[in-house]
Formats: sequence, structure tokens, C-alpha cells
Amino acid sequence: MSTGSLEDDAIDSYREAGAILVETLTDAREMIEPGVTQLEVAEYAEDAIREAGAGLAFPVNISINEEASHATPARDDETTFGEEMVCLDIGVHVDGYIADAAVTVDFTGTDELVEAAEQALDAAINVVGPGVEVGAVGREIEAIIDSYGYTPILNLSGHGVERYDAHTGPNIPNRAVDRSVELSVGDVIAIEPFATDGRGKVGEGAVEEIYEQVGDGTVRDRRARQVLDELERFEELPFAARWLDNSRAEMALRRLKMADIVKGYPVLKEADGQLVSQAEHTLIVTEDGCEVTTAGIHPFD
Ligand code: MN
Ligand code: MN
Repeated sequence: MSTGSLEDDAIDSYREAGAILVETLTDAREMIEPGVTQLEVAEYAEDAIREAGAGLAFPVNISINEEASHATPARDDETTFGEEMVCLDIGVHVDGYIADAAVTVDFTGTDELVEAAEQALDAAINVVGPGVEVGAVGREIEAIIDSYGYTPILNLSGHGVERYDAHTGPNIPNRAVDRSVELSVGDVIAIEPFATDGRGKVGEGAVEEIYEQVGDGTVRDRRARQVLDELERFEELPFAARWLDNSRAEMALRRLKMADIVKGYPVLKEADGQLVSQAEHTLIVTEDGCEVTTAGIHPFD
């Protein structure tokens, strides 16, 4: 396989991250059912990734019904799954090389919404190759989701990944765009169609459990300083508030945000009462198309 500027070591790490992710996502998905706590599933997956010798590219995301992204259980969260639509989105890195994939599990009887996102992802992957514009990838996604009578979420998109950076360019839109960036051999991208029965636009919710260090600096507050010291181990990747040793870090995180040292990611959601499905794979653009590093998520039974 010729992959442009990507080194063989990097490709191996991307593949290893993908394999660990597939294994973990498959097992974690099987655990999801009404009555089980979200925290149990998130912690199972996060522990499995660490035990495999890999790192977390971001906290396990569990989005319910109208939620689309940036939702993760809080510390000691006792919320259980109900008869809901559940998106499970996991990110793994090996030596900084990232795999990012998601599946949707439906307990609402809205299978077609799940299928719309999955089929859109398949169609998008089929057109990926060098010289292909990202807008053409989005055109496939939009056409498939439209054909199911649903709407893609237009203000969420796929993205490039780089070492220790889970979200870089190019932006991979979930709709047709004219005259856009062309993909090149060696690009590593995550494609993630979201389908909804809502308007196709998410806004910020009130809940915020995911953070990322975005700057250096100092703070006077003792607890904020303790939390800041702790952030080093997250290697500037997004982290969950529940991962902090300090169980009362809320105020410290607020201070670190005000000092522009930390950024928060509020939950992104559709309007109340709507449903959102998501499907996602990570892939490497190759001479003759692409290699999906997160391929082979076993069928759900
Ligand atoms: Mn993802
Ligand atoms: Mn992603």
C-alpha cells in the first residue's frame, strides 16, 4: 500500500489503534441494554483500552436520544439506559495515532434512522480516494440520509486526525458542498454521518463533562493548581471530569476555563424529543481508495 508521506510505523499504530477500538466497541455495545448504567459501559470500555496498552483519544461518548456529541457520564453517575436511542463513540490512540468510531444502538423501534447513518457511512467510504473533494463525500451522505426521509446534522462533520490531535482538517461535511478540499494519499480522516428526525442542527446543552487543556498559565487557587498538575497525563487530549483524582474539581475547572487554560465541551443536542443516530469510521486514504482502520465491527445480535 502506498500512503504518501505516512511512515510505516505510523500506519502500524493507526491499524493497532483501530483493532483495539473494534474489539472494545463490539464488547461495549453488547453491554448496552435498559437497566444497565451508562457509567458501567463507559468505564468498561475505557479500562479495556488501557489494559490493551493503548490510550484514550477522548472519553467514551454515550449520547441519548436528542444528544449527538460530547456526552459522557459524570462521576458516580447512576443513570441507566432506557428505551432510548444510544450512540456509542470511542477514540483510541496508540503512540498518539488515533482511531475514532461510533455505532448506534436503538431501543425505540426506529431502526431506519440507525440504518440511514450506517448506509450513508458505507456510501461515503465507497467514494473516498485521492483527488476526491470532501464535498463529494458529503453529497453521498446527504443523498442517502435524504432517501430515508431523514436529515443529516449539518453543523456536525467528520474531520482529519493527526498525531495527538483527534480533530484537525479537513472538515468532512455531512452534506453536498461545491468546490471543496481534495483528499490526498496518506490523509487520515474520520467520517461520521449523523441522521435525525429533527431539523438537522445541534445546539449546546447545559451539561459539560468533557474538557481539554488548551493553554499554559498559572492560577492562584490551590485546588485549581492541583487539577492543573494532574492534566499533564492527558497529553492535551480531551478528558472527562470523572477521570480527575480530585472528586471536587468543578470549581477548579471553572477557574481554569476562565484563565483560558482549559476548554469545556458542552453536550451538543438536537431539539428535545428528536432522535439522533451516528455511524463513524476512521480511514487512511490510499492510491486506490482507502483502508478503513476501524473495519470489522462485528454485527449486532
Ligand atoms: Mn467519534
Ligand atoms: Mn470523530
